[in-house]
Amino acid sequence: MRFENYTAHNYKSIPQIINNLTPEHIHNIDIVSRVLPFKTNNYVANELIDWSNYLNDPMFILNFPQHGMLKKEHFSKVELAIKNNLPTTKLNEIIDQIRKELNPHPAGQMEHNVPFLGEQRLSGLQHKYHETVLFFAAHSQSCHAHCTFCFRWPQFVNMQGYRFSSREIESLIAYLKLHPEVTDILFTGGDSLIMSAEQLNFYIEPILKADLPHIQSIRFGTKTLTYWPFRFTSDKDADDLLRVFDKIAASGRHVAFMAHINHPKEMAPTAFRDAVKRVRNTGAEIRAQAPLMQYINDSPEIWRDMWNEQVKLGIIPYYMFVARDTGAQHYFAVSLERAWHIFRDAYQQVSGLARTVRGPSMSAGPGKVHVIGVTEIQGQKVFVLQFLQGRNADWALKPFFAQYDPNAIWLNDLKPAFGESEFFFEKEYKLILHSKEIVSLI
Ligand SMILES: *Cc1c(COP(=O)(O)O)cnc(C)c1O
Ligand code: SF4
Repeated sequence: MRFENYTAHNYKSIPQIINNLTPEHIHNIDIVSRVLPFKTNNYVANELIDWSNYLNDPMFILNFPQHGMLKKEHFSKVELAIKNNLPTTKLNEIIDQIRKELNPHPAGQMEHNVPFLGEQRLSGLQHKYHETVLFFAAHSQSCHAHCTFCFRWPQFVNMQGYRFSSREIESLIAYLKLHPEVTDILFTGGDSLIMSAEQLNFYIEPILKADLPHIQSIRFGTKTLTYWPFRFTSDKDADDLLRVFDKIAASGRHVAFMAHINHPKEMAPTAFRDAVKRVRNTGAEIRAQAPLMQYINDSPEIWRDMWNEQVKLGIIPYYMFVARDTGAQHYFAVSLERAWHIFRDAYQQVSGLARTVRGPSMSAGPGKVHVIGVTEIQGQKVFVLQFLQGRNADWALKPFFAQYDPNAIWLNDLKPAFGESEFFFEKEYKLILHSKEIVSLI
């Protein structure tokens, strides 16, 4: 299949759009896509979306901007500006202002995760947890389609100073040499596998040639298996791409796909299954993770089916995330209590082979916070929580408690239980954020 890219500029040429959407829907897409990124492709349109019921179709909602994704006042502002024919610079100012109100870099990514090599700020890297360095290759700042809820959305719109990317493979290697605690490099983006085999090799080859015995695993954050499976089967350089994974495996390292899969529907096409087979034949392991999103996958049956299907195909269920505090969170978020119920209901229905999955987990500033559950302790209803990953490694797996709040959707909404004035990690977390010295060390 030949890749056809659709964005706000040309999506109206998709036959299914012409045949199905009302002028009102088109208008909504036009407005919302001014603020948040929109990109889809012919495979998603032809194979994944059920056009007979597109308004409720999870794949349509995953890909096409929805009216409610912008708050009413933001929607009206853009709508009015366009209606009044404001000059482009004025319109862009309004749009940028709205984007800034949508918390473009949640969890302190920009200020607190970017490491230093001496005085040099390595802007294409993030190093938050000891073992794993995230690398934002300059060539992977897009995806084969964009998810409506994407927390990396500022990477895809032209906002000054809001992008990570790096061509500086040499700086990455120099940094890794100074950090023997790092075992994993995680290529991310966008989608790390939007790169051509040649581009990917440009990064991988020097890593394999360098003397980095502490690097055990190279991971690829990707949605390509479900947005464009032909990348691994019939694209011109599909075989070359697989050879890159072979080469990493031959160096004695683990190749890990961190595959983003939101719904069992994405796993039905033969093209997906063929891609999974070919990737697994290289020795790479595929782990699956996804956020829990209202309108897309907010039921235990969906997660149960998804995990079961993954196990059948040799994919390892890994994380269920909570909708992050950015972009259209207000539209997609599910309450923490409901997230826990959905996770638990699904977990109870699958075998141990699928119980490798962890969640629901919030990737927040202090770390990945796992909602263990809601319970009652001495007559008080509380959330039980723990860190799976902490900005301080020592925080991991210490249970802590928050007052029960049925409406809480994020860590910020939670207050300590039992009369405590703050959570156990807060003092230290504030110290970390305020100490430049420590920031440069993490
Ligand atoms: C999730 C995450 C990782 C990887 O964590 P694992 O639990 O090892 O998969 C690394 N860095 C950041 C910033 C993350 O959010
Ligand atoms: S595939 Fe990942 S990075 Fe790309 S749009 Fe979706 S969530 Fe964002």
